[in-house]
Amino acid sequence: MVEEFAFDNTEERRKSRQSSGDAGWIEVIVGSMFSGKSEELIRRLRRAQIARQKVQVFKPTIDNRYSIEQIASHSGMTHVSKPVMTAAEMMAQMEVDTQVVGIDEGQFFDMAIVEAVNELARSGKRVIIAGLDQDYLGRPFEPMPQLLSIAEFITKTHAICVKCGNTANYSQRTSASTERVEVGASDKYEARCRRCFVPHSDVPTVHD
Ligand SMILES: [Zn+2]
Repeated sequence: MVEEFAFDNTEERRKSRQSSGDAGWIEVIVGSMFSGKSEELIRRLRRAQIARQKVQVFKPTIDNRYSIEQIASHSGMTHVSKPVMTAAEMMAQMEVDTQVVGIDEGQFFDMAIVEAVNELARSGKRVIIAGLDQDYLGRPFEPMPQLLSIAEFITKTHAICVKCGNTANYSQRTSASTERVEVGASDKYEARCRRCFVPHSDVPTVHD
């Protein structure tokens, strides 16, 4: 989905605003699993670091895939991050001179994250938050809908349907669990398009 990001010129916008002392802003990256959300988040954070901006990255502790002290994409990109239990804990660890705040797995945060990122943006920080916009039943996954509403910039990433090859917008659960939060990767989920998605568990797709 590289072509969608070609319009992402937030770094340039920031540069032009810095001199006039403008406020910060919120960028939200949403999509299904395997759509490249974390990869896009890491890409933006790396660019901020190249620009020598102070970056802090957080993720909720519920997600213990790959490693605790970093965020990781399915393609293997990683970035150091601080695990936190709540939005309040994240705010307590926030340093005053941080310019860019990265947050991954936003859907696992409590609702207080909404006011927290508003406060960060108001204090002049650029906040980039990635997360799943729908759960395994295709329902909006709070607090992502609320974050989408207050964000200045929104990027929707898409995966490829493993069944038919169309653009995928859904995370199909392939394990039997009915818990809303069931952490896993390709062992428990696969990307599906609207036509192939079934809003409950389904057997994994097998290709000959
Ligand atoms: Zn499909």
